[in-house]
Amino acid sequence: MTLRHLVRMTVFVAPLATAAAQARPPRIAAGWELDTTAGPGAWNPQRGMIIETWQLWRDYLTSRIRGEPRPESWLADERAHWPEYDLTSFLAYQDLGRTAVTVLTIQPPAPDVRDTVVIRTLFAHVSTDSAGKSPVVRPLALTRLYAVRTRAGWRLSNALPHVTARWTRVTEGPITFIYSPSTRPDPARRRAAARFVDSLANVFRVPPPKHIDYVVTSAGEEAYRVLGFDYAVIGAVTAGKTFIGDHLIVAGDARQGEAYFHELAHIVLAPLAPPNSTPALLTEGLATWAGGSLGYSYRAVLEQYAAFLHEHPRITLDTLIDGTGSGDSGYRPGGALLCQLVFDVGGLTSLHTLLVQARSGDVRHAVESASGLTWAQFAARWQARARNGPPR
Ligand SMILES: [Zn+2]
Repeated sequence: MTLRHLVRMTVFVAPLATAAAQARPPRIAAGWELDTTAGPGAWNPQRGMIIETWQLWRDYLTSRIRGEPRPESWLADERAHWPEYDLTSFLAYQDLGRTAVTVLTIQPPAPDVRDTVVIRTLFAHVSTDSAGKSPVVRPLALTRLYAVRTRAGWRLSNALPHVTARWTRVTEGPITFIYSPSTRPDPARRRAAARFVDSLANVFRVPPPKHIDYVVTSAGEEAYRVLGFDYAVIGAVTAGKTFIGDHLIVAGDARQGEAYFHELAHIVLAPLAPPNSTPALLTEGLATWAGGSLGYSYRAVLEQYAAFLHEHPRITLDTLIDGTGSGDSGYRPGGALLCQLVFDVGGLTSLHTLLVQARSGDVRHAVESASGLTWAQFAARWQARARNGPPR
């Protein structure tokens, strides 16, 4: 499961830009251990680097919250490699107007290091209990960010390159696998992943991705540590996160290892269904149709979904599209079946029509144009197939 799914379900839905536009910039406080006031005469050999990096991080974050990002504060190499360069932002910077930000520590990673510091920051929501009396603190993330000294001054840097610097790297086709020492590399799965990428691009006639970085870890917690979270709301023991624009996958599921097909499918199919303009029902549907979900094959997902619909007879394709069910009523299996049924009508041509037209946001109209059926006909077909499960 990607964190994106979980965040959508369990945390907040306010997109960063909206939150930023409306939010009062939060106060960024220094924790007990971080002395940002030590005068020039104070005896602390690390004082200079602590003050400089504290200001760098505080100013970067404040600007970002105001919706005026300062990319130049970030290491140029990382920005060149990853368009979406700040890898903790998708989780830590949600609903920033309500977030209390505390910079806990700024310390070098080892006693004599003078060109690198580790900055640990707690993002938490503070409220009161239902009686309005006792304070309640609900941490969202504890992030681990680095700052490195360059010729141009201090620059911010993700945990990922620091944490994985000595990990084994193996390239297979377009994918570079980066192995945590806690994993056991599996050449067969590596080949399966490269083949999957190749054949998926072929089947959907999209240019195959030139390069994918794929970090293999053994658990969700470890995957998030690589991304720069010492703690984060991830909601599951296994988890992965894909940065589609960065062509980066950080997987934390030992059952899938190198072969997290769902996440690979997101990257391969992005040219067909750009994630920023395509409804999530279809981007998730496509990835699930092509690569299964949560370690299960598409067929197994459909079997489980049929059983789920038996217990939840009110769920229809309409409730999925309108998001009127409570929580996630299966937009991944449901979206996958929608894509498949459109494909069954007119192959890739119909699927293309669906994806292009759906960018307007009107999925029903897109389905009608792509399938040549009325909405009622298509919805009835979906309902029958979803309830019956995959053909035996
Ligand atoms: Zn997904």
